[in-house]
Amino acid sequence: MTAEQWLTRIFADQAPRRFGSGWVSGVLGIVLGLLSVVAVLCLHFPQWLTLPELRGRYPLPLVRSAIDIAILCTLVLAALSMLLRRRKALGLAGLAMAAIALALGAGGVAIPQAPASAVYVGLDWFVLGTLTTAALFVPLERAFALRREQGPFRRGWLTDTSYFFMSHALVQLMSLLVLIPATQLGQALAIAPVQAGIQMLPLAVQFLAIVLVADLAQYAVHRAFHAVPLLWRFHRVHHSVTQMDWIAGSRLHLVDVVVTRGLVLLPIVMLGFDQVAVYAYLAFVSVHAVFIHANFAPRKVWLERWIAMPRFHHWHHAIEPEARDRNFAVHLPMIDRWFGTEHMPEDRWPSGYGIEGLEVPEGYARQMVWPFTR
Ligand SMILES: [Zn+2]
Ligand SMILES: [Zn+2]
Repeated sequence: MTAEQWLTRIFADQAPRRFGSGWVSGVLGIVLGLLSVVAVLCLHFPQWLTLPELRGRYPLPLVRSAIDIAILCTLVLAALSMLLRRRKALGLAGLAMAAIALALGAGGVAIPQAPASAVYVGLDWFVLGTLTTAALFVPLERAFALRREQGPFRRGWLTDTSYFFMSHALVQLMSLLVLIPATQLGQALAIAPVQAGIQMLPLAVQFLAIVLVADLAQYAVHRAFHAVPLLWRFHRVHHSVTQMDWIAGSRLHLVDVVVTRGLVLLPIVMLGFDQVAVYAYLAFVSVHAVFIHANFAPRKVWLERWIAMPRFHHWHHAIEPEARDRNFAVHLPMIDRWFGTEHMPEDRWPSGYGIEGLEVPEGYARQMVWPFTR
């Protein structure tokens, strides 16, 4: 039995999962408990487990209280689940998490005065990313689900959660492989008068211009990843998801991420946009890229002509052969209209996702190695 099957048997047992069955409280307790343990570890080893950019900026008294409250909530949720549910596995797992967090010192851990480490992982970034993304998308998917029967513990959920974890934890590697090369090359290639002209534009206009420039670059790179067989070996990992939800979009091979992000960032740096507009764009793309994968069917669809909605990108992942190599844009469907690659059948969603006959190994590590194998 794989780790995913084992965990799925705990999380998605056969008992009812409706509100009041102790399932929601049980799962929430485990997630909150796990994040509490990670947060307490960050207090113990900030030099290795937190981002240097964020480390000095946290309002510590608030963080400590937040950790203690999270542990308390974990205990309450776990107890509630054990009260409501005949099977106690979810509640017990939540209790165990809370016990570990308490044993490690909870919010009261004294922060060591250790020198900064040259190598670090971004576990604080992971905790913040999980809290904000889940708070946004879990209620959205529960209230307006496209495929109601799917549930969060669908096939591949642990693999995709690992991708989500790694993309946050490996933020130093991203900075070394993407941010620094793209920034240095972009500044070397920059044309001063063009940069000066762009700097004069209002920030809102700069933001819209970045969205357009970034999505044009992304369109070109994404299309190349589909057309060039060597690149497709890496990108088909992203297309191996067979059920779509907010976490499915995390499944991207490291080579795919590094090449795409680097080449999207390059023209943004070259054109010399204001930092505020660039940060606004980075916040926007991190939410929008998750949003277009969500198991979410919005009612009002007039917007989908102008901005990519889940239906647009779901067709990019569709199993239907007529949707192959369509809808490459991430933000602006008009780019696909300009280049004749749009596929948006009236009011229809794909019947399924993935690629017919594609056999992908499960798990993050196996999928990292997979493109390099025969
Ligand atoms: Zn693709
Ligand atoms: Zn996608």
